[in-house]
Amino acid sequence: MSRRNRYSVPEYVAGIVKNDRQILSRAVTLVESTLPEDQRLAEELVEGVLSFTGNSLRIGVSGVPGVGKSTFIDRFGQLLIERGYRVAVLTVDPSSEAGKGSILGDKTRMEQLSTSPNAFIRPSPSSGILGGVSAKTRECSLLCEAAGYNIILIETIGVGQSETAVKGMVDFFLLLALAGAGDELQGIKKGIMEMADLIVINKADGENQKAVERAKGQLVEALHFFPKKENGWITEVSTCSSLMGVGMESIWNTIESFEEKMKINGFFYKNRALQRVHWMKEQIHLLLEVGFYSDKKMSKEIAQKKSLVQTGGKSALAAARELVEKYLYLNSIKE
Ligand code: GDP
Repeated sequence: MSRRNRYSVPEYVAGIVKNDRQILSRAVTLVESTLPEDQRLAEELVEGVLSFTGNSLRIGVSGVPGVGKSTFIDRFGQLLIERGYRVAVLTVDPSSEAGKGSILGDKTRMEQLSTSPNAFIRPSPSSGILGGVSAKTRECSLLCEAAGYNIILIETIGVGQSETAVKGMVDFFLLLALAGAGDELQGIKKGIMEMADLIVINKADGENQKAVERAKGQLVEALHFFPKKENGWITEVSTCSSLMGVGMESIWNTIESFEEKMKINGFFYKNRALQRVHWMKEQIHLLLEVGFYSDKKMSKEIAQKKSLVQTGGKSALAAARELVEKYLYLNSIKE
């Protein structure tokens, strides 16, 4: 970000808290910046808004491309706004690496929702970013919360890795699914199903409706065999037509009931506390990695060990240990 576009941290915080959308947008851009001088400012900014955050419900929405995520969020988001909520939509898009293009970003999405003054839709940052997309999405959620968005929808494509990342930053995980040609559910992995608090079979309209009902029955049956979750919640199954706007209220009722139960049994807060600690650990990992690879005193040594490992002259294990030991030694404080 160029210098003239930057505000001071108090200016950012003041602007965000009074929901100045332009300042919020710029703050998100700052958080996504890869420039080292921006990283520090971004950190101060996140710290600065922290006391204004936490008053939202964070919902992950996942599903394979074409399942109807954007159509769903467009509709569902409108329902939430009708109920008086303010909605932010963030995307975690593992496909958006530099040069690869983005599955989520290359079409007009959420046309209705994007016109609402109570919605803030932010397309995915590219994953070339330090710390990966997920780290930035967490920070962006906090900025949105500070700006008064009380429902944060975090959207991701179902490719495995991104769901795990999103699960680690939301209160509720909604999986969108499709009934297959043979009425079975299309390509959902067991691990992803286990992660879900609610599985919604979309496109329950027209000729597809019967197939959806049968798929729902099979899914409910299959879920019986899943181990009980620690928080006591049993994964629910719903159907909807995002296109026709059918089934949205019932989905929201399920989410509200989840929130209420988890707040009563304490898991809501426990989960968030665990997520914050996990975030810190991720950040430690990241800082160490960045520090290690950008340490000029190490670059020659790293290159040497790399070629030794490549030729089989040294084991990867020994090389890694020796390099880390050297790095720690060089950076230890000498009295
Ligand atoms: P995404 O890739 O998961 O974001 O999916 P989209 O929201 O872009 O939807 C993919 C296609 O499915 C589009 O042509 C939508 O119009 C269509 N679609 C989405 N939801 C429904 C639905 O409930 N019923 C029907 N029949 N089509 C839908």
